[in-house]
Amino acid sequence: MTSGNITLTIIKPDAFTSGKAGKIIAHLEAEGYAVRAARVMRLTEAQAGEFYAVHRERPFYKSLVSFMTSGTCMPMVLEKAGAVAALRKSIGATDPKEADAGTVRKLYAESKERNAIHASDSDENAARESRFFFSEAELIAAK
Ligand code: ATP
Ligand code: MG
Repeated sequence: MTSGNITLTIIKPDAFTSGKAGKIIAHLEAEGYAVRAARVMRLTEAQAGEFYAVHRERPFYKSLVSFMTSGTCMPMVLEKAGAVAALRKSIGATDPKEADAGTVRKLYAESKERNAIHASDSDENAARESRFFFSEAELIAAK
């Protein structure tokens, strides 16, 4: 994995189960991201709880874990120069009401919780989160 050029995204259950995965991937590819690994899966409570463990003390944590386990989602490793910062910009603010026009969340998110997509917030977390979902063999295309 070339650090600095990959990031981990998840098309969240609100977007996946309402049939928006294809549109979101097309949107990201048009912005220059390449899909290097992808999986279609339903998170267990343990997986969702661990993935968002940093928010364990927050009032929305239980609801977030419940939402993230409510249906199928799609984790993906994306590659682009400066991927982490670029994707944070492409997805927009956490609350779609505050997201810039043309961002994934502005276009496809339902609410601050059901906000269509996750993106890693640092190169370190991008590497950690990629290994959370994908084996070394699956990450070879991202190297
Ligand atoms: P993500 O980590 O999923 O990319 P983010 O970095 O924009 O989102 P975080 O602050 O890390 O936002 O929150 C993680 C997720 O928790 C949000 O994407 C959203 O689904 C949910 N969330 C955050 N704040 C709230 C809130 N105040 N009320 C309800 N849900 C929230
Ligand atoms: Mg976050």
